[in-house]
Amino acid sequence: MTKQAIVVGGGPVGCVLSVLLARRGWQVEVYERRPDLRLAEHAAGRSINLVLTARGLRALEILGLKDQVLEITVPVYGRMMHALDGALAYQPYGKDDRERNYSVSRGDLNRYLLDVAEKSGVKVHFEQVASEVDVRAGRLVVTGPDGAARTLETPHLFGADGAPSAVRGGMQAVEGFRESLDMLPDGYKELLFPETPEGNYCMEVRALHIWPRGRHFLMGLPNQGGSFTGTLYLPLEGEESFATLTHPEAVRAFFGRHYPDAVPLLGDYVEAFLESPTGHLGTVRCAPWHVGERTLLVGDASHGIVPFFGQGLNSGFEDCAVLHGLLEAETPLAELFATFSQRRKPNTDAIADMALENYVEMRDKVGDPRFLLRKQVESRLERAYPELFRSRYAMVVYSSIPYAQAQAAGRIHDEILGELCAGIERAEDADLERGRELIDAKLTPFHAAHGISLAF
Ligand SMILES: Cc1cc2nc3c(=O)[nH]c(=O)nc-3n(C[C@H](O)[C@H](O)[C@H](O)COP(=O)(O)OP(=O)(O)OC[C@H]3O[C@@H](n4cnc5c(N)ncnc54)[C@H](O)[C@@H]3O)c2cc1C
Repeated sequence: MTKQAIVVGGGPVGCVLSVLLARRGWQVEVYERRPDLRLAEHAAGRSINLVLTARGLRALEILGLKDQVLEITVPVYGRMMHALDGALAYQPYGKDDRERNYSVSRGDLNRYLLDVAEKSGVKVHFEQVASEVDVRAGRLVVTGPDGAARTLETPHLFGADGAPSAVRGGMQAVEGFRESLDMLPDGYKELLFPETPEGNYCMEVRALHIWPRGRHFLMGLPNQGGSFTGTLYLPLEGEESFATLTHPEAVRAFFGRHYPDAVPLLGDYVEAFLESPTGHLGTVRCAPWHVGERTLLVGDASHGIVPFFGQGLNSGFEDCAVLHGLLEAETPLAELFATFSQRRKPNTDAIADMALENYVEMRDKVGDPRFLLRKQVESRLERAYPELFRSRYAMVVYSSIPYAQAQAAGRIHDEILGELCAGIERAEDADLERGRELIDAKLTPFHAAHGISLAF
């Protein structure tokens, strides 16, 4: 019998999941709140971009979509730090240029994935808002643009409807269901660094640019075609905050004071800043993620995280890769949903924590000399013993080592690097032989116990 499913949410995770199911012969219908992004009248608007890394790419590779997606990305190879005096400092991401990240427009990626979903036989219904979800019965109400509501029933319901998920809302009725939503006191606004009049990039295109300024920071990621999308992360309230930057003079003074080298590159940013909506950031955790074989949450709907490790979408795509593996093994569905949740939840909790740690790192520590020293010693260790030591960043971004294991290995790295950096001022003075002893004593046994291979 053909399996049937409704997927709520036609964002990137909903699309990849639908393709995965449709290619296995499922009959899939997607209900998406927004209009079709591919239609010209909806194509304009904000250019939001994000970074794809190994985990996300692996899921796309399973579906044979990786090469096409890479064609709409811009590779970035490291971080370029902008000091207040305009000095630049570059840190490569990985051990060589093969370890790189890919900047992609969220809209372009979503448009491409919607095409693939439809070509795979998925029926996508746009401008349909799901509500009143009965997760045990597989029943939901969808409301169209004319306000007409219909009740739908399905044997299998997937909630891929992002952090404010209506399907997760329906899970409240399940006994023992718990959820938390922890909002950050900071929000974000997106700004454009336009291409130069000659049509070139206004900054080094191979890098993600960061202006760390303590309580706030600006970030820039390249788009195809010459521009960068900038994102300002700033407190929502307080003296210097989105609450006070509400008129042109305040905005100009703020950028002049903190981001003087970015101002000439930002074009007509003041008006754009005032018009651009302020985004909010938070961490969603919940359990359970499923009800029998009826309902399953995936992506941000079950584990929305803050964006500071660039892993929100990557972890949602990794959900799809794990589901693919379980479907291949022909695991019965109720067991499959349970195994999936057990396998993923500790890992998505780990990346949620690491993303919050990176929030402090990116706004504050990337300009701190002790932090930079630690990073340099870490990179010396990586180069000296590449088969024995890889940074936590590399494990998260370039491998498929479960996030929880990367997090636990990172705690051991902290002990090792803490000892190696104590009492030194220059990375060259770190005692690498002692580093090797510490790796052998503390880290290698951990890798062996968890079957971790650093050959990635
Ligand atoms: C500023 C910022 C930067 C980021 N950078 C990165 C990055 O560099 N790398 C990375 O991996 N991740 C990044 N992320 C996270 C990433 O955007 C999310 O993890 C990803 O979009 C989640 O995909 P999703 O499909 O699960 O949810 P969403 O993208 O939120 O899609 C959910 C879809 O469901 C639809 N929907 C919602 N409610 C309903 C409803 N009731 N009925 C019908 N449809 C509904 C929505 O319209 C939407 O299309 C970033 C996030 C932010 C905010």
